[in-house]
Amino acid sequence: MKSVLEPVKKERFNLLDYDRKGLAAFFVALGEKPFRATQLLKWIYQEGVSDFDLMTNLSKPLRAYLKENCYLATPEIVVEQIASDGTCKWALQTSCGNRIETVFIPEEGRGTLCVSSQIGCALACTFCSTAQQGFNRNLKTSEIIGQVIVAQNRLGDTKKITNVVMMGMGEPLLNFDNVVAAMNLMMDDFTFGLSKRRVTISTSGVVPAMYRLTEVCDVSLAVSLHAVRDDLRDELVPINKKYPLKELMEACRDNAKIAPRRTVTFEYVMLDGINDSMEDARGLVKLLKTVPAKLNLIPFNPFPNNAYRCSSKEAINRFKMFLNDAGIVTTVRKTRGEDIDAACGQLVGQVDDKSRRHLKLKLVGSESAA
Ligand code: SAH
Repeated sequence: MKSVLEPVKKERFNLLDYDRKGLAAFFVALGEKPFRATQLLKWIYQEGVSDFDLMTNLSKPLRAYLKENCYLATPEIVVEQIASDGTCKWALQTSCGNRIETVFIPEEGRGTLCVSSQIGCALACTFCSTAQQGFNRNLKTSEIIGQVIVAQNRLGDTKKITNVVMMGMGEPLLNFDNVVAAMNLMMDDFTFGLSKRRVTISTSGVVPAMYRLTEVCDVSLAVSLHAVRDDLRDELVPINKKYPLKELMEACRDNAKIAPRRTVTFEYVMLDGINDSMEDARGLVKLLKTVPAKLNLIPFNPFPNNAYRCSSKEAINRFKMFLNDAGIVTTVRKTRGEDIDAACGQLVGQVDDKSRRHLKLKLVGSESAA
């Protein structure tokens, strides 16, 4: 009879692509006990061991099976930039040559890692530089949790990652399963043990996926609102045409139900003359009164080939004061890592993509010239 542990003749797979539940199912399928998952996680995340031979509480045949069929690998740091304010930006390279960008933002009493979920983005928000490169592919779970592993290793013991925001490149809810598995891993007691209040997923408003998220994963939610009227939001965040404001706000209320004392954070990029009038501020009050909300105003970060300008400091302050006076807790996001292009909306991804985009543009140009 064949042993369950007999090597299967197929591609080896990365065990960092599984959260604890996924690993337990994997071990059970091998005829092992589910607690092997916890043992494996402890070796990887607590002992820093990636050599299966050294995992001495796993049986010898199991170790041999893992060695033959599995591996453990994260992307690697290929570029590191450190800004004058201490913000670090890394370009990580995946095994297939793609580049992922990750940013660490040190603050008094905490350290936030801004993690990417996709290479590029399909959503075409008009004020976002990631949108300009189009969509390349979803990141695997190992490439998402790998950003946390690699960053923490690089930062060492003195700078701890206490918070993770899924606010790097990509729309996390369009890479649902991999992002949820990676967030489960970050919050696992046997890995980084981050509290669910310290893991935030930011979405442009993929409404069906927001409902699914509320069902399966209790993390903090941030929503990129940016406009209070459908006509303007259709333009700035085109996914609004599919899931307009009314549906978006309903999904936010649904999410707020699972954690009654928790608020949904709304992000609002401040664009001069576009969405920063007092009428917009009044619209925001009206909209945000319908859900337990906090508001985060983001000064627009300009980038090449983009016509928007950031609202003036005065306009941003006026906006903020109006909203705070109306009872909506409102903060202005500090721009960090500006001198290394690590600020919000400045993660542009891999060089190859840009050259491809250039090629494509040239082709379009020659077609229209013909
Ligand atoms: N796709 C997710 C995560 C994106 S990045 C989302 O849309 O929420 C996180 C935040 O940065 C979003 O609110 C996004 O709208 C904002 N952002 C993008 N480009 C920006 C820019 N140039 N200036 C300021 N904020 C920007």
